[in-house]
Amino acid sequence: MGFFADFHIHSRYSRGTSPALELPELERWAGIKGLGVVGSGDFTHPLWFRSLKDSLSETAPGLYSLGKNKPTVHFILSSEISLIYKQGGRVRKVHLLLLAPSLAAVEKINAALGRRYNLNADGRPILGISAREISAEILAIDDQVLIVPAHIWTPWFSLLGSRSGFDSLEECFAEVTPFIHAVETGLSADPPMLARVGSLQRYTVLSNSDAHSAANLGREANEFACPLAYAAIARAIRENTIVRTIEFFPEQGKYHHDGHRLCGVSLAPEETRALGGICPVCGKPLTLGVLYRAGELADREAESRVPFTYQVPLRQILSQVLQCGETSQKVSRRYFSLIERLGPEFTILQDTPIPALAAEDERLAAAIRAMRENRVRRQPGYDGVYGRITLETEDR
Ligand SMILES: [Zn+2]
Ligand SMILES: [Zn+2]
Repeated sequence: MGFFADFHIHSRYSRGTSPALELPELERWAGIKGLGVVGSGDFTHPLWFRSLKDSLSETAPGLYSLGKNKPTVHFILSSEISLIYKQGGRVRKVHLLLLAPSLAAVEKINAALGRRYNLNADGRPILGISAREISAEILAIDDQVLIVPAHIWTPWFSLLGSRSGFDSLEECFAEVTPFIHAVETGLSADPPMLARVGSLQRYTVLSNSDAHSAANLGREANEFACPLAYAAIARAIRENTIVRTIEFFPEQGKYHHDGHRLCGVSLAPEETRALGGICPVCGKPLTLGVLYRAGELADREAESRVPFTYQVPLRQILSQVLQCGETSQKVSRRYFSLIERLGPEFTILQDTPIPALAAEDERLAAAIRAMRENRVRRQPGYDGVYGRITLETEDR
C-alpha cells in the first residue's frame, strides 16, 4: 500500500504563517488532500515541540498521530533551519530540512541548539553556523536524522541559489557530503532541471509543499511504496526507491524566471544573458531565477530518471472552471462537495476516471484531463511573483 508524504511544512510559530496552523488543522487538511504522512514542521520551536509531545502518540515506528485508533494521517518529525554564515569570503544563506526518527532525538537536537541559539524567535530558526558543521553535529547526536538541502535552486536562502549559495553540495558539505542523500526541488524547479547537473545525480529528489497555510499542504509531495515507518521512509530516501514526486509546473513557482518585481520586469534566461544580467528599468542586477541558475550549473543533456507527475491544485482548477477567485465561497463550496463525494484531492486529480468526473461537471473533467496530459499555458513566475498556469481545455 503506497502513500503520499509531504515533509516540509511550517507551524503557526514560523514567520508569515497562518495562526490556525495547529496539529488538528494539519491533520484535517492532510486527510482532505490524501497525504498519509505529513511533516510536523518546526520541531526546534520550544512551544511547538511541547504541543507535539503533549498531543502526539507513536502509532507506527517513528511516526506519530493525534488519535490512537487506526489513524489515516501520520506525522513525521520535521523542521527547517536557516543558516547564515561566511565561507570563502562570501555570505552564504542555506536552508536545510531535517527529518528526525523520534521525539527523543528531537529533544537532544533541541537541547544542543538551544544552548547557543534562540529557538523561540522563529519556527524556522536562524543559526550562525555552517551547513557542514551543523550537519556533522546533528548526525553525531543521531545518525538516523535525514538532512535535506531545501528548495535547492531558489535565489535566496538555498544551497545552489544564485545570490548566496554554492556551486555544488561538495563545496558546501565537504567531508559530510556522503551523509547527504536527497535534495528538495522547490516549487520553481522540476526533476528534468536537476537531470542536467551531473553532480546531482546521486541524490534522491524530494518535492514538498513548504506550506505556510494548511490549504497548501501537498501542493508538491512524494509517493512511497514502503511500510509506514520512519526507518522504511528513510531507507527509501537513502536508496532512491521513491515511486514518484508530485510537482508544480515549475513556471508556477515564484522564482522560475529572472526579473525585478518592483520594475515589472520578467525575463527568460536568454533575455537576461543578452542584457548582461542588468535590469533594463532600474539598471541594477536582476534576481536570477531557478531556470537561469540550473542553466549555469548544467553540464549535460539528459532525461530525468526520476518519475514525476505534474499537478495543479484542485482549487486552482475550479477557479478556472468556475471563473471566480481561488479563495471565493463558490470555489470553496464546490471543492468540499467534490471531496465529500469523490474522495481526497490527490485521488480526484490523479485517479478518478474522466467519465466519473464528467458526471460531476463536464468542464471540470476537461480541465483535469488537460492537466493529466500536461496541456497547459505557462506564464512563468519571477522575483517573488507566482507564475500562472492555465489549463488548455477545448472550449478556450
Ligand atoms: Zn526555506
Ligand atoms: Zn529593476
